Amino acid sequence: MINKERLLTLFADLAETDNPSRQEREICEKLKEKLKALDIPYEEDDAGAKIGGNCGNLYAYVEGDLDLPPILLSAHMDNVDPACGKKAVFHPGGRITSDGSTVLGADDLSGIAIILEALTVLKELQIPHRPIELVFDVAEEAYCIGIQHFDFSRLRARDVYVFDIDGPVGYAASQAPTMISFQAEFQGRGAHAAFAPEDGIHAIKAAAKAITDIECGRVGDTTVNIGIINGGIAGNIVPEHCSLTGEVRSFSEESAHRKLQEIEAKMRKAAEEAGAELTFTIDILCGAYQVDHTEPVVRRFQNACAKLGLPGGLVSTYGGSVNNHFYHQGIHGLVVAPGMNCCHSKEEYTTAEELERAADLVLELILAKE
Ligand SMILES: [Zn+2]
Repeated sequence: MINKERLLTLFADLAETDNPSRQEREICEKLKEKLKALDIPYEEDDAGAKIGGNCGNLYAYVEGDLDLPPILLSAHMDNVDPACGKKAVFHPGGRITSDGSTVLGADDLSGIAIILEALTVLKELQIPHRPIELVFDVAEEAYCIGIQHFDFSRLRARDVYVFDIDGPVGYAASQAPTMISFQAEFQGRGAHAAFAPEDGIHAIKAAAKAITDIECGRVGDTTVNIGIINGGIAGNIVPEHCSLTGEVRSFSEESAHRKLQEIEAKMRKAAEEAGAELTFTIDILCGAYQVDHTEPVVRRFQNACAKLGLPGGLVSTYGGSVNNHFYHQGIHGLVVAPGMNCCHSKEEYTTAEELERAADLVLELILAKE
């Protein structure tokens, strides 16, 4: 039922549209046009203004003919950089890549393209279907900041499929971690490095001691990273200030918080020993979830995959997505592979076959009788 040519044309058109985080306007206008052509009413919220972007989250409700609960389908409108001047290059055999100078944008425009193609098929063939809700969010790649300004109370669906994970079509994530970022500010005292070094308190050395004491990488059931260090202003000044930015992830909320307390304690000790002050702040980026495999949203996915001869595999991911946010609003779901590979790199690719299969899957999920 999927029209492969139409799907590929739409994907290429979207992929060749500039869409860095907070600059999704052009993509959004194209989606509005598509929805209008399908007679689907839509609304854009004011998230753009709140996050310093030029576009809000796009929401739509597709009335159904069947007496089945609505399902929510979601994908994000932005791409990681470099997301401007993208070209979709079609290779013999069906592989689709960028021209090598940007990402392709399959993360997550493949998700948007397959949803729209499935909706187009429903309209074209006048197939009776359940009600469908759509959320196309902005600034997902900026730690899901767009969806955090979305009004979840308007959603009627309790089941969601977020089409936003790397890997073969037919797999989905049912578990994702808590992600918490931290920021540490070591405040020492500046002094001339040669005239009066004894008057200084070396903030960089204090921070360095802390970094040495903190284990990074996979640590128990968490992952820990310190990713940014900043400090000092000149080679002849004892550095007054040093800041560290990092993150902790874990499938266990409790473990993540315990690990953060340990990290803070080690930093505090290093600061105290040096006579420096420490300010430690955290930012909870998203909460962990684990969807029970007996839930209808999982069964529907696995049955749809079985019908299409797809594996229907469930995985855990160490990445966060809008699915974390939906889950904590009482809307349970899976992060489903829409046909993206090597995402967040210039080697990113999809294939014509994968996109077609993923669009078939969207249609199957919509038409499922449960
Ligand atoms: Zn994504």
